[in-house]
Amino acid sequence: MLHQPSRRTVLHGLAAGAGVIAFDPVTRTWVTDRMARRYALAGAEPAGVPPLDGSLLTDPDTLAAAADDFGHYVHRRPIAVLRPGSVADVVAMVRYCAAHGIQVAARGQGHGTNGQAQTDGGLVVETSPLHTVGPVTNGPDGTPTVRVGAGAVWSAVVRATLAHGLTPPVFTDYLELSVGGTLSVGGLGGQAHLHGAQVDNVTELQVVTGTGELLTCSATSRADLFVAVLAGLGQCAVIVSATLRLVPAPVSVRHFLLPYTDLATFLDDQRRLAGDGRFAYVEGEVAAQPGGAYTRYTLEAVAYGPPAGPEPDDTALLRGLRYDTSGVVTRETLGYFDFLDRLAPGVAALEQAGLWSWSHPWLNLLLPGDRAPELAGALLDGLAGQELGPGGVVLLYPLVRDLLRTPLLRAPDDPVPYLMAVLWTLDPSDRAAIAAREAANRAAYETVRAAGGTQYPVGSIPMTPDDWQAQYGRVWPWFAAAKRRYDPRGLLAPGQDVFPD
Ligand SMILES: Cc1cc2nc3c(=O)[nH]c(=O)nc-3n(C[C@H](O)[C@H](O)[C@H](O)COP(=O)(O)OP(=O)(O)OC[C@H]3O[C@@H](n4cnc5c(N)ncnc54)[C@H](O)[C@@H]3O)c2cc1C
Repeated sequence: MLHQPSRRTVLHGLAAGAGVIAFDPVTRTWVTDRMARRYALAGAEPAGVPPLDGSLLTDPDTLAAAADDFGHYVHRRPIAVLRPGSVADVVAMVRYCAAHGIQVAARGQGHGTNGQAQTDGGLVVETSPLHTVGPVTNGPDGTPTVRVGAGAVWSAVVRATLAHGLTPPVFTDYLELSVGGTLSVGGLGGQAHLHGAQVDNVTELQVVTGTGELLTCSATSRADLFVAVLAGLGQCAVIVSATLRLVPAPVSVRHFLLPYTDLATFLDDQRRLAGDGRFAYVEGEVAAQPGGAYTRYTLEAVAYGPPAGPEPDDTALLRGLRYDTSGVVTRETLGYFDFLDRLAPGVAALEQAGLWSWSHPWLNLLLPGDRAPELAGALLDGLAGQELGPGGVVLLYPLVRDLLRTPLLRAPDDPVPYLMAVLWTLDPSDRAAIAAREAANRAAYETVRAAGGTQYPVGSIPMTPDDWQAQYGRVWPWFAAAKRRYDPRGLLAPGQDVFPD
């Protein structure tokens, strides 16, 4: 029998009037109602698609969009895209895919750079329709929390919590990333030296496992699933909602940009600030002298004002820091949200110029702190004379290892590791330059790994199965066991290539 979609089902097909009604496991194609008669005449029995509140899309434009990401050079085409109308849709379609051996890639904002949220011939589950934010409540220990849909972007989350005078403690630099997407990788930012990563500030998750089970997990309930999902690259489950810890939000912040002329002093002062906690936010950038060496270091530090912190006192905040007082020192007071969303105007300009859709073969590494001057110095020397492209930047900032408590966020075994990110923007038609960049990323990763570093897996480093095992080190056996338990057919997040067939 061919499946008859229920009234609830909203299905879009290859063309108007051609709704998806079934999957043919023999030819591994979706069957539309137009093809149904042919199937019926042949006596074939494709498996009916379950009734959905949302849409199952197979039109070429949707498939092409799902076969792209922020890298804009890896393109794996799915056979369908689920735009869920409910969590029940995710459950139904993951069960369906599990029954038929179809791979499933959750996709938040598609801001991986190397095909991470893509699947060749599988189903892409868009999480953006699952974007509810709220309610804000107090957890069992009195900590304020907010429950959010996995597809909510961080700008929407913080806008909603600010209405309560509260904020998530840690932000990525760019706010238009999905909660599910950053919780699948870690979520690092300038506040991490005080609060750990975003994954360290989650109290509960609701997830759909690779077998289609809808489960709630936390540090005290199904803890093995909880730790396998946080920073778990989507391998064990699709996150459908998360409960996030909140802290008091400042009304305004004092923002400093401090120039340095010397890498060792820059890193030393960052380490000092990571340790003494006088600033709520610490990051840093390295830029090139015109056409030359990457030796312009800028420490970015932000103090939160009341009610999250005391009235900022510039003299006390800058005491003992060895920045170049003859250089350009910037200090300004910004509204809290404007500070968090400070990249938005630059992104809008890049979008308008068509450059946001250029290729981004990004390199993201975590350096052991004791080797950071030497490793960062060598990587920066290697960049000399090269332009990173429009909007390109090198980020370099400290983390505090003890606060990175999520086992699958693999950070070097060092008290103060540094994130180093080389964020390229390349012309997408220059395939040779992109390939060369990937090869250079790979070489940089090998150097850093040999020194005890890891990669932060959001960018473009070609990885083999052995590399992934090295990345996860001592937690690899239980990560692999969790994968077998929660995604026994190995169908989830194939674009990460962590567990190949
Ligand atoms: C401009 C820009 C700035 C960035 N800044 C930072 C930064 O400051 N700090 C930082 O830590 N990172 C940063 N990143 C990296 C970013 O955090 C990751 O790429 C993140 O995964 C992107 O989120 P997304 O919603 O686009 O996820 P996607 O790219 O859609 O997905 C990424 C991976 O997570 C999986 N996934 C997505 N949603 C779910 C879900 N609900 N459940 C299970 N798995 C899921 C996907 O299958 C895929 O494997 C930045 C990226 C960009 C492009």
